[in-house]
Amino acid sequence: MFGPPGSGKGTQASRVAVRLGVPHVAAGDMLRSEVARDTALGREAKPIMDAGGLVPDDLVVRMIDARLNEPDATNGVLLDGFPRTVPQAVALDTMLAARHEKVDDVISLEVHDDELKARILKRATTEGRSDDTAEGLAQRLIVYRQDTAPVLDHYRNGSTRIEAINGVGDIDVITERIIESLKHNGVALRSA
Ligand code: ADP
Repeated sequence: MFGPPGSGKGTQASRVAVRLGVPHVAAGDMLRSEVARDTALGREAKPIMDAGGLVPDDLVVRMIDARLNEPDATNGVLLDGFPRTVPQAVALDTMLAARHEKVDDVISLEVHDDELKARILKRATTEGRSDDTAEGLAQRLIVYRQDTAPVLDHYRNGSTRIEAINGVGDIDVITERIIESLKHNGVALRSA
């Protein structure tokens, strides 16, 4: 699940993962859990996350690699918030190749900047995430354009299917757009 900060990746990924019958693996949630548990990784990640930056690739890659070794990941996962840089995408290709697997599909949620800003500032008042500030958001959008948007080109240049989904509208309607697109591409889904 690919998209800018505030695009609704997390919400949609958790719904779509249920229909795919695979775990939802959210890099941001895993990092926030490390912060909450005050682990060595969490202590390193927190100031970076609060400033809207990216946690170093090697730390995130190791965290995801370990997650893919968990027994529930045997039949695949839905990744959310990873890969977020081209080096992470290259590392993911390598770790999947070692398992005779690959990225099957990229779901790209498309939302324009004004809508992203409005959503994140609203989330700041309801969820209280420590990186949801006006400065944190501005920085995350800069980082997204510079480091994360090229990840889509990495997949475009390979042979991975990319599903571009309009991420503006009702949450249920957006989920339906994703499901229809997956069905259209012959992806097997569980009933709702
Ligand atoms: P959002 O996409 O709304 O910004 P996330 O929960 O996906 O929220 O990510 C929150 C923060 O966690 C990011 O701004 C970044 O600091 C860190 N983070 C998440 N995923 C990665 C990743 N793959 N690589 C580096 N940092 C990450």
